[in-house]
Amino acid sequence: DTGRLTVIAGPMFSGKSEELMRRVRRATIAGIDVLVVSHSLDTRSDISTITSHTGVNIPAVPLGDVASLAGAALQKDYDLIAIDEAQFFGPELVPAVEDLLSRGLDVIVEGLCVTFDGQPFEPLPSFMAVAEEVLRLTAVCTVCGKDAVFHQRLEQTESPNGPDAARTVQPPEATLAATEIDASHIGGLDTYVARCRQHFTGAG
Ligand code: ADP
Repeated sequence: DTGRLTVIAGPMFSGKSEELMRRVRRATIAGIDVLVVSHSLDTRSDISTITSHTGVNIPAVPLGDVASLAGAALQKDYDLIAIDEAQFFGPELVPAVEDLLSRGLDVIVEGLCVTFDGQPFEPLPSFMAVAEEVLRLTAVCTVCGKDAVFHQRLEQTESPNGPDAARTVQPPEATLAATEIDASHIGGLDTYVARCRQHFTGAG
């Protein structure tokens, strides 16, 4: 049998890592042999874990390129390969994942489907086109609280809540605490913000 492709895609802060971890945890409980892979360039995470913006983490094998990912995936008799922040691997990831699927492995691909300047971010859009299941997540716009399909770089002079702070949505305290934990991570709240279509202002 061929494998099943699941895609978890969205902008930053949309809960992609949380959802990937939830699915990996469930699979582990079910006795499924999972290999969790991250990219070694993703210094948001500790080298051997994936970490969500809430500070939760699970072990992962950091790999530097598609070839070593393919090698690691076939090294043991895994049932499921879970790939965190798949955009780091680039477009060559598509044929590599298709090969794993044809060999009968299930694959979950999680990553950004949009760049910080609002453009489609390969390879996620290509994976979304051919997946058995696509989970498309949104974050919360830091200006108005609506669904955010974008994230953008925060201007040095700008507050995280944008120019019209009167309409600011205050995150619950738990989220603020999680944000502080995450301050050192690449793509933490200190440099990027989630924005809805109306409040997205592009590359700035
Ligand atoms: P992703 O992997 O998509 O970047 P994570 O799973 O790492 O997302 O983090 C999602 C968590 O980030 C949320 O559950 C919430 O606690 C926190 N968070 C911080 N800022 C936002 C925001 N603007 N919108 C949604 N969640 C946010």
